Amino acid sequence: MASIEEQILEQIKRYDTIIIHRHQRPDPDAFGSQLGLKAILQASFPDKKIYAVGKSVPGLAWMSEDDTFMDDVPDKAYKHALVIMVDTANAPRIDDQRWQNGLETIKIDHHPNDEPYGDWQWVKNGHSATSTMIYEFYESLKHQGLMMTKKAARLLYIGIVGDTGRFMYSMDKETFRVVSELFGFGFDYEAVHHNMETISENAAKFSGYVLQNLEILPSGFAYIILSKELIEKFDLRDSGTSFVVSLPSKIDRVKAWAIFEEQDEGNYRVRLRSRTIVINKIANQFEGGGHAMASGAWAQTKSDIERLITLVDNELMTINNSN
Ligand code: AMP
Repeated sequence: MASIEEQILEQIKRYDTIIIHRHQRPDPDAFGSQLGLKAILQASFPDKKIYAVGKSVPGLAWMSEDDTFMDDVPDKAYKHALVIMVDTANAPRIDDQRWQNGLETIKIDHHPNDEPYGDWQWVKNGHSATSTMIYEFYESLKHQGLMMTKKAARLLYIGIVGDTGRFMYSMDKETFRVVSELFGFGFDYEAVHHNMETISENAAKFSGYVLQNLEILPSGFAYIILSKELIEKFDLRDSGTSFVVSLPSKIDRVKAWAIFEEQDEGNYRVRLRSRTIVINKIANQFEGGGHAMASGAWAQTKSDIERLITLVDNELMTINNSN
């Protein structure tokens, strides 16, 4: 029987139009796997129309070396299209819900398969990044005409660097093997690192604020609530706020942490991380999910925030007491 990778390539070959989606509020792995797959398919099938859709994120626009970052796709293109979703566990989080108008749909992801949407699913829960999977897809089917390019290799590398936390989390031999293969395509990794590691002066000052004002509970749970007003005061522009997510991990006694960020609608986006307890089950209770140690969620009110803090705090206390 054909492998799932072969079945996916079979579908790709059948269609003239392929539209690639990824999740809302994209991170480097979402863009890397989306644009990396697009570059591989463009090189392999120059006669097909391959699109990448979703909102642009100014802070990550450097990832694309082309003039266009995301494509404008007319509604009618979906009528005859194969639609591929990368890096997105749940259908409501897919950026641009027109994905449902595609003739056939494929899910490629490395999160827990809580919501198995799509006509085909290739899910490697716990794999280091969806970008790693896209490389493996190319590698296992290059004998059938798939082509890797320098541009695609660079994008996939960025995705892997992003989702492994600069090779600190979800690391394994396979990831290093894939990275070593990607290096063979000769992209400028120093320029990539510069873009990923530097932040604006305002962002640096904001980082200082976050570290100084972090609340650290005796259990080892750290959190900070960032109001819209405060974020506006720091004038972060294109930087966004994602660069603060890893800051609490620098503090040795922090075991799990959350960043609550107020949104225009008055609710709070929650970024939840851990190095001890599993936190995606808690995120599931707050319209969220993700990986065991890196999840996202939503708090609609201040009392949701308090409830979430209590849940993580209690969980940590239980672990602490049992050790
Ligand atoms: P973030 O905190 O946004 O960087 O996300 C951390 C991880 O959780 C990523 O793998 C996201 O795809 C996932 N994630 C974030 N928010 C949600 C959500 N509301 N529902 C499900 N998964 C999420």
